[in-house]
Amino acid sequence: MALQWLLVCHGLVTLLVVVSFLCGQWPIFQGTFIQRIHFFLTFGAYDYFRRFIHCACGPRGTDALHSAEYYCCDRPNPIIQLIYLLIIGGTYYFIAKSSFVYIPGYYISGMHRYTSFLAVGVGIILFLLTSFSDPGVVNSANVSRYLSAYPYDNVIFTEKECSSCKIPKPARSKHCSICDRCVARFDHHCAWMNNCIGERNTRYFMAFILWHFLICMYGIVALALILAGRLKDLQVIHILTVYYGIENSFRELAPLVLQWLLNSYNTQILIMVFLAVISLLLAGFFTYHAKLCLTNTTTNESFKWQEHLSWQRKVNEAKASAAALKASLGELNQENKPQESKWKTFFRRSRLEELEVVKNNVYDKGFLHNIFEVIVPFSTRRSFLGNKSKSG
Ligand SMILES: [Zn+2]
Ligand SMILES: [Zn+2]
Repeated sequence: MALQWLLVCHGLVTLLVVVSFLCGQWPIFQGTFIQRIHFFLTFGAYDYFRRFIHCACGPRGTDALHSAEYYCCDRPNPIIQLIYLLIIGGTYYFIAKSSFVYIPGYYISGMHRYTSFLAVGVGIILFLLTSFSDPGVVNSANVSRYLSAYPYDNVIFTEKECSSCKIPKPARSKHCSICDRCVARFDHHCAWMNNCIGERNTRYFMAFILWHFLICMYGIVALALILAGRLKDLQVIHILTVYYGIENSFRELAPLVLQWLLNSYNTQILIMVFLAVISLLLAGFFTYHAKLCLTNTTTNESFKWQEHLSWQRKVNEAKASAAALKASLGELNQENKPQESKWKTFFRRSRLEELEVVKNNVYDKGFLHNIFEVIVPFSTRRSFLGNKSKSG
């Protein structure tokens, strides 16, 4: 029993390490790819659906869709939260219905009937925590404390007032147009959670993604152990080798065993494939957000930095071409100037390279400090609450 648990734990940790490593190494699993998948699942697929409705139903259909879109996407509502509950509940129901009959099995103990329920329960608790916790709403009572907790960097955040809330806008905060409130250390508005992800609930959001990745892995490993147990109980390998005279080698047996599994246990195989796809998406999404947390950047800030850096590059390009033009005009005017050697010209850095564009994130204070800031947000610390008396 203890050995099986050790094997399961070892498998889960190894998979986490391998998948995280792959997600970090392969460019397709890095931020942009995951952002694209996430964008497609959130907006892209819907855009195709909108075009289809326009073709099929004309302007009336489009108007009805716009009204539904306003209700579903531009206002807080629980529709996508219910979809999440339907997915996790449905998957658990199908696993229980199709596979609990084989627990306990040859390789899996009876305890997994309860631990699987517990794992899903913890997942739902994390979902509720992220959905219904305060993301760090900025109001007139706490704005002065947030202003002193997050200084302006005067690059992507400058002193401003929120035009909707009529209060100063602390650095790193953003006014969420869906929830109509300012949120400190704003990351993004999550439609799945029907809540903003901000200063106080990024920790729950990260735990939610990691835990759901682990649940998917647990499901895959448990189903694999159940199927391996069925192979053992029904003596499939023995029958294939002895009665059908098939050579006892992996290459000969693997296609036949796979075919037998697909015929007899297709529900389990389908669920395993589904869990594998979801776990890959979750691993990529977790790696992307973990990288942001380690560098103390939010999703909102990463877009702001992208805009700022591309603007800075354009300015530098303009400066460099103006300088080059000035230099060539100067050279034309200078007569009898000794020519620069070809090698020297070849190795000389261009003026554009000299004007480097640097991202100077003043909120990045080393990865340990950054992780601590996510786990114990400023607004939950005693020092933050103490600021009230100083600043008003
Ligand atoms: Zn606001
Ligand atoms: Zn929001």
